[in-house]
Amino acid sequence: ETAPVAVIGLGDMGAALAGALLKAGHPTTVWNRTPHKADPLVEQGATRAASAAAAVAAAPLVVACVLDDAALRQALGGADLDGRTLVNLTNGTPAHARVAAAWAAEQGADYLDGGIMAVPAMIGGADCRVIYSGPRAVFDEHAPTLGAFGEARYAGADPGLAALHDLALLSGMYGLISGFLHAVAMVRSAGEKSGEFTTAELVPWVSGMTAILPTLAEQVDSGDFATEGSNLGMQAAGYANILDAARDAGLSTELMAPLGTLMNRYLEAGGAPGNDLSALVGMLHTTGA
Ligand code: NDP
Repeated sequence: ETAPVAVIGLGDMGAALAGALLKAGHPTTVWNRTPHKADPLVEQGATRAASAAAAVAAAPLVVACVLDDAALRQALGGADLDGRTLVNLTNGTPAHARVAAAWAAEQGADYLDGGIMAVPAMIGGADCRVIYSGPRAVFDEHAPTLGAFGEARYAGADPGLAALHDLALLSGMYGLISGFLHAVAMVRSAGEKSGEFTTAELVPWVSGMTAILPTLAEQVDSGDFATEGSNLGMQAAGYANILDAARDAGLSTELMAPLGTLMNRYLEAGGAPGNDLSALVGMLHTTGA
């Protein structure tokens, strides 16, 4: 006996979510602002709802995945959520999530916020992880259904935590992409192709370097930033060479310059040059401690 679910929003991601629910055997009601996007799902057995309100009325568990917070409000504005559980998988900020949770509570609905750490093709597969936040009991109740999307990971009771983790993880990813773009621009400036450089050198290098992150994280948590071998004074001197070489090659330094600026600001403020990069985290706090 699988629980009925309503899915609001059938863009690339919402359609993948609805498809995974159908595959797992859930009676699935779907709605999208532009109706034809429901067609392939209806062919797979989904029920088309004529409005978002009708979709919400059709199932106790409502999964919403639309473009952004404004779209969520527009989509669900006319729906009666009383007695429902709204699982909001729309990308947003922690503040969006807290406001949506309060709005759901006013209507008598339970609320979970979620961050999808996958692209649509990964939904339902082993590499998909979705992070949820909201009341533990609500998560536990629906975790078996939400497992249709991939690993369901609970971040905590504050509804904003899933978005916080999601955006923190995306920060890590975009940092990696920034480094990739700059690295490829550098080798291409010498007339090389990026493909072989990427597979033979960059991926093994960066993959290996991820192993230092838990050590840096321990330093951040303990406040003991003493390096195990790569001091900041040395790294700042070397970092300047990245920027100089880029300029010499006719490249913009805009992706790489900020970390160099942070290192210099740390050292100029009297930060210990014998510390590791982990010491820079403190420089990012602009308010409070
Ligand atoms: P798409 O651009 O494919 O789809 C956007 C969806 O939002 C469509 O269903 C669209 O409806 C709907 N929408 C936009 N504005 C409104 C509105 N005013 N009222 C009602 N519905 C509206 O995006 P995705 O499906 O890829 O992304 C959906 C969410 O999932 C986003 O928040 C995204 O950040 C998140 N996400 C996406 C990932 C991805 O790789 N695709 C990865 C992780 C998260 P219509 O069809 O009528 O335009």
